[in-house]
Amino acid sequence: MSSATPTAKAGGAVRAAGTDGRAQRPIVAMRHISKIYATGDAEVHAVRDVSLTIERGDFVAIMGASGSGKSTMMNIVGCLDIPTQGWYWLDGVDVRLLDEVALAEVRSRKIGFVFQSYNLIPRTTALANVELPLAYAGVHRQERRQRAIAAIEAVGLSERMSHLPNEMSGGQQQRVAVARAIVTNPAMILADEPTGNLDTTAAEDVMRIFSALNEEGRTVVLITHEADIAAFAKRVIRLRDGQIIEDYRVAAVAGRPPRLGAEHTIRTVEAS
Ligand code: ADP
Ligand code: MG
Repeated sequence: MSSATPTAKAGGAVRAAGTDGRAQRPIVAMRHISKIYATGDAEVHAVRDVSLTIERGDFVAIMGASGSGKSTMMNIVGCLDIPTQGWYWLDGVDVRLLDEVALAEVRSRKIGFVFQSYNLIPRTTALANVELPLAYAGVHRQERRQRAIAAIEAVGLSERMSHLPNEMSGGQQQRVAVARAIVTNPAMILADEPTGNLDTTAAEDVMRIFSALNEEGRTVVLITHEADIAAFAKRVIRLRDGQIIEDYRVAAVAGRPPRLGAEHTIRTVEAS
């Protein structure tokens, strides 16, 4: 996959982090990852020598200006793209050892994706959209339906199950996309500017759903260039020119997401 060769040093570092057993193993362990796009005779260094560990149960916002390498990073984290250099273990699996088929399998089992533009199948009901990943995974029809209904309920859209994408608001469509991302019960949710097309209210609804999913123990990694959105995360990483220039923690990995129940807190303050 990559031209780089694993070394005992790099492999040892990750194994050492995981010696306490499965629960301690980071969901993401990247070492010296670079991505270079060759465009004609120019090279674009979209990601430069990034090393990053993300713990299971964390809620991470990756920030940065347009062109700073956020989407490239997410595509590598999500195994949608392969780095030019470096090592990447996803949930302890060295993804460089996997072929296309195995990569697709890991992707569908471990990761739920949410994109800025929802990417729902048009002329297909919300329920059928959410069932689709389970159909690909070969889940039996009846179980498929039950799990899709539960996922749609989890995002508060029971009333809209049989609606088509063009019969729903942007916020509702994005919540369907979140239901589709969680229906396979992935270890990690990866969202690239999930609120980029939404108004403030719809964006906060979506962020509150991510917070609730994280509180249940799911790892959430989201990309945004908005500080208001990053404020929902427990850890904030800032990229510039393909490098991490800032990385700070707002809340403990095992703690509550910072903005969960923020609305309730505000009401309480106003009432007192
Ligand atoms: P962001 O998501 O932060 O806006 P990207 O990861 O999309 O940034 O892009 C980082 C850099 O890599 C930019 O300079 C962009 O133009 C370049 N880039 C991204 N994708 C490609 C590609 N497929 N081919 C060539 N250059 C690319
Ligand atoms: Mg982007």
